[in-house]
Formats: sequence, C-alpha cells, structure tokens
Amino acid sequence: MSKHQGKVFIVTGGSRGIGEGIVRTLAREGATVHATFNSSPDRAEAIAKQIADEGGTVQFHQVDVSNEEAVNAFIDSVVTTSGRLDGVVNNAGITRDGLIMRMSTADWQSVIDTNLTGVFYLCRAAARVMLRQRSGRIVNIGSIVGLAGNAGQVNYSAAKAGIVGLTKSLARELSSRNVLVNCLAPGYVETEMTGKLTDEQRAAYYESIPLKRAASPGEIAGVVSFLLAEESSYITGQVLNVDGGLAM
Ligand code: NDP
Repeated sequence: MSKHQGKVFIVTGGSRGIGEGIVRTLAREGATVHATFNSSPDRAEAIAKQIADEGGTVQFHQVDVSNEEAVNAFIDSVVTTSGRLDGVVNNAGITRDGLIMRMSTADWQSVIDTNLTGVFYLCRAAARVMLRQRSGRIVNIGSIVGLAGNAGQVNYSAAKAGIVGLTKSLARELSSRNVLVNCLAPGYVETEMTGKLTDEQRAAYYESIPLKRAASPGEIAGVVSFLLAEESSYITGQVLNVDGGLAM
C-alpha cells in the first residue's frame, strides 16, 4: 500500500516550484491532493493531466490565499467532496524585494497578506475540521530568512518569522486533539522565485551553503511527506531547516 493511500491533502501554490514538487510527490504516494493555483491555470491544468496519466489523483482549485472568503469556501468544498482533511501544506508565497527606504507600503502589505495572513486563513479553516476529526497535520513553509533575516526582504522575512510564531502557538492550541503543526524552513531552492537572482548572487549563495548547491523541489517535498506521515507522529511545534546546512 502506498505511503499516503486514502489520505486527503491540501497544498497551496501547487502550480509551480516547490508546491508543484510537493503535489507530485504526495500524488505519487497515493494521496488525493487538492492543490491551489492563483494566476497560472494552464500550468495547473498541465500538471493535473500529467499526474492523472501517471495514475495519481489531483484536483486544482483557483484560490487567492489572501482572500478570506475564497479560502473558507475552498476548505468547505474539499471537506464536502472528500469527507475529511488529513493535512494542509501552506506553501503559496510571493516576494516583493527592496531595501526598506524604497519599499512601498503596497509591497510590504501584499507579502504580509499572502505569506502570513493567507497561512492564518488556511490554518483557521483547517483547524475547525481537524479538531472535530481529532487528527490532522499542518505543514507551513517558512524560510531560513525568517530566522536569520536578509537585506532587501524586510517584508518577506517578517512574514516568514511570523509563520514560526504562528506554528508554535497553533501547535500548542491543537495538540490535545492530535493535530500536529510544524514549519519547514527551506534555504535555497531552485525555482522561479530564486530564478530572479543574478548569476553572481547565485554563486555567492552556493559558496555560503555547506553542501555547495541548492535544493531541488523534490528534496523539500520528501520532508513535507515525512511531516504528513505516521513516522512523524511525535513531532509538533518544530521548525525544521532543510537548507544544506546554511543556517546551522
Ligand atoms: P514560486 O514563485 O515558484 O511559486 C509560488 C506559488 O505560490 C505558485 O504556485 C503561485 O501560484 C502561488 N501563489 C502566489 N501567490 C498566491 C496567492 N495569492 N494565492 C494562492 N497562491 C499563490 O515559489 P517557490 O516554489 O520558490 O516557493 C514556494 C514557497 O517556499 C514560498 O512560500 C516561499 O516563500 C518558500 N521558500 C522558497 C525558497 C526558494 O529558494 N525558492 C526558499 C525558502 C522558502 P500561481 O503561479 O498560480 O500564481
């Protein structure tokens, strides 16, 4: 029997990058995956078709995670369709980088709305279901930038640091009902988000990583799968760095 056979998982931001890797991994491992996209319907459709051709089960939904009503309606529809919700992976995220002197309020707010408030909306809606169910897993994708900071990313690092506090507080709130909440903090992963860096910036990053390379989305997805699986049943409230040793 596959690792996640019969499980129902939600993955936000499944249309690209790390989220796509997570969706593909969980579908391969037998789960029914409800993934979201925001602005890439064609990519979502292509991924869904490939996964279906390989025998997996994934359904994509257009959900802007910063829209409270849309998130609530999405969780309701998944639970109505599937009758349960075993795990949520809060992966959707954006960057609007710039030094603080030049950062607009809009760039601050959109990153907080998507990367932090969106996680709150998903967690709150999922918690209502998981508390009733007396089981569930939530994996929030943070970043080592939320722990160490990064020049040019006060908005992003504040949102990712916020995810750490949210994760720990929520883990305490939900633990008595067997709902486990953890944060996975990637270092540098090869995706379109990091594709915006120049070659010099990329080389400098690699030099600072003990493993001297970036992670692939699949290397993050494998750890997410572990945090959703029975083997991790005694882990909650943790921040797990998956960063090639960068932040040790
Ligand atoms: P990408 O930019 O490659 O993909 C972002 C995903 O988020 C897309 O699927 C996008 O959907 C979705 N998304 C963006 N805005 C919204 C929104 N408002 N509502 C719903 N979905 C949205 O990012 P990565 O794969 O690189 O990053 C994924 C996560 O990992 C993020 O949380 C990021 O902060 C974190 N991370 C990434 C690192 C890296 O090195 N890449 C390092 C550390 C953390 P669509 O395309 O449909 O708009």
